[in-house]
Amino acid sequence: MPRFLSGHCPACNGASRSSLGRPDLRANPVGAPSGSLVIQCSDCGHLRIDPMPFWTESDFRVLYGEGYFIPDSPRWGTIRAKTNPNSRFGRIQGILRADARTMLEVGAGIYAHFCENLAQRGWSVLAQEPSEEFRKALERKGLAVVGEGFLDLPEDRRFALIYADSVFEHVGDPLAFFQKASRLLAPGGVLYLVVPRERSLLGNLKQILAVLRGAPCPFLSAYKPPYHLHGFSKRSLRKFAEASCLDLLLVFVREDWFWLQALERLPPVIGHLAAAGLWLADRCGFGGNLEVGLRKAD
Ligand SMILES: [Zn+2]
Repeated sequence: MPRFLSGHCPACNGASRSSLGRPDLRANPVGAPSGSLVIQCSDCGHLRIDPMPFWTESDFRVLYGEGYFIPDSPRWGTIRAKTNPNSRFGRIQGILRADARTMLEVGAGIYAHFCENLAQRGWSVLAQEPSEEFRKALERKGLAVVGEGFLDLPEDRRFALIYADSVFEHVGDPLAFFQKASRLLAPGGVLYLVVPRERSLLGNLKQILAVLRGAPCPFLSAYKPPYHLHGFSKRSLRKFAEASCLDLLLVFVREDWFWLQALERLPPVIGHLAAAGLWLADRCGFGGNLEVGLRKAD
């Protein structure tokens, strides 16, 4: 059973909040309190679950065990393995000032596409992954892997780049992760994060429908996959950066690829219509992907 704690906003330390509704507790594999809420910080817009669960190792195994990762379609697999890493590395190069070519991927999961991409470019890469099962998958790819929790990593080594795709929204205390990354970065090094943008056009439409139907709040999905506990906004990311002595230099809000998922998962006509709407929303900057580059002072 996790510890459940309530507190101030982890980004700005603000106490003021509003409720967006209750999370979906129908599955509730970890015994979340029935009074749990999805809340939004009134000061910086950060979304979080309240009270916040802090997972034990056995909770972690229950939530992120077999079946958590769904196999990619061929097209989506190519985007994740090649298109996204190339595009993200291009953005990182625009703000990176550290000379060493050393990279750490936090919570690498079973894919670690970015590690593989940078290794092919001649970088020295290290994947951090606490799950033993996921670690075996990474080692089969020939990657160097460490199994300690990210917060437990020794700080005698510095990295030019720390990369985390779909990680910081899963942890109870994201500020500790920002601050750890700051300590592990070389001067001029970059922390590059990919997180979901809960307040996308689609997310906001789902929220309106949920309120009208009296259904659980669609934001975060804390107690059913993918188990997101935090929803970052541009303002809350700036607050996290300030509290970690990092400069927020890059904010990117496109390439969510939701249109492709609509095309692949929905019936033909509905799928094409939904894909067109989602593509347009993404191109106009209202999509569901948020990427940020934060740099440590040189
Ligand atoms: Zn806040």
